[in-house]
Amino acid sequence: MSAPDLELPDGVWILLYHHVGEESDWVKGQGVTTPFDRFVSHLDFLSERFPMVSLDQAVNILQQQPVRGVHVALTFDDAFRSFGRTAYPELRRRRIPAALFVCTDFAATGEPGWRNRLAYLCNTGRGADVCESLRAAFSPDFPGLTDLRPETVLKWTKNHFRKTEIESAVGNVFERVYGNLTVPLYMSWSDLDEIRQDSLIEIGNHTQSHLMLVSADPEDEQAEIHGAQRKLEQKTGRTIRYFAYPYGGPNHYSDRTRQTIRDMNLIGLSAHGGFNRALDPSDLKRVTITQQDIPELIQKLRT
Ligand SMILES: [Zn+2]
Repeated sequence: MSAPDLELPDGVWILLYHHVGEESDWVKGQGVTTPFDRFVSHLDFLSERFPMVSLDQAVNILQQQPVRGVHVALTFDDAFRSFGRTAYPELRRRRIPAALFVCTDFAATGEPGWRNRLAYLCNTGRGADVCESLRAAFSPDFPGLTDLRPETVLKWTKNHFRKTEIESAVGNVFERVYGNLTVPLYMSWSDLDEIRQDSLIEIGNHTQSHLMLVSADPEDEQAEIHGAQRKLEQKTGRTIRYFAYPYGGPNHYSDRTRQTIRDMNLIGLSAHGGFNRALDPSDLKRVTITQQDIPELIQKLRT
């Protein structure tokens, strides 16, 4: 099957993965999991048909107009521990380049953050405790939530409460129910040691704490982006040249964010808008991939 058979126009497709491995209560409902065998089938399918390019190559291709042929680049956000355990060995064996976007606060401990603890509570039947705790503390007249799936609870909390309020409520409920239960979920700096020495993998900035930039104070936004940039360059010994907007949707970052990225000479990557036909240095478009089978993957690339 060639590209014309797949009805894909000429351009650069940048795929966005997160956690490659088994679904777990820490992430279920967040739309981040790709089972390993599914990931391998994606690599088989894509690498047989298309050149698998690095972000640098993607940028070069996009600078030369018109773009001819279909090119595919792979990116992984949040630096889940599974990247080092499952995806990276497979990429290295096949010599397929990729980019890994790291939140420096996650790498500091490797432990689940408040979003993961919230997902864990929801996935183990404790979502109502969090909602009640938030209501009781900050907004007693607020109607409760009946749909307690993790994605709904996360959205509800984000829409109605401040980040510090959610963090504190999740932290309190989690500690009450599960004590200091934790797992290694993200790559720590030592986990990143092997990867930083391998030029096959580009390491990129994904802020310090995965802050929703569009609603952040300008000073917080600057601190998140510049702080992560300094830490990453110090820890990896590399020049960091790419930045992935947290959440990555069109409403998740602003013109101010884009200007910061341009001012820092970084290339920004979003998580919407499909494939690239020309270079927009503050907005390379990506397609989010989770557990699609091959026909679904093709469909996703086409739309
Ligand atoms: Zn992310």
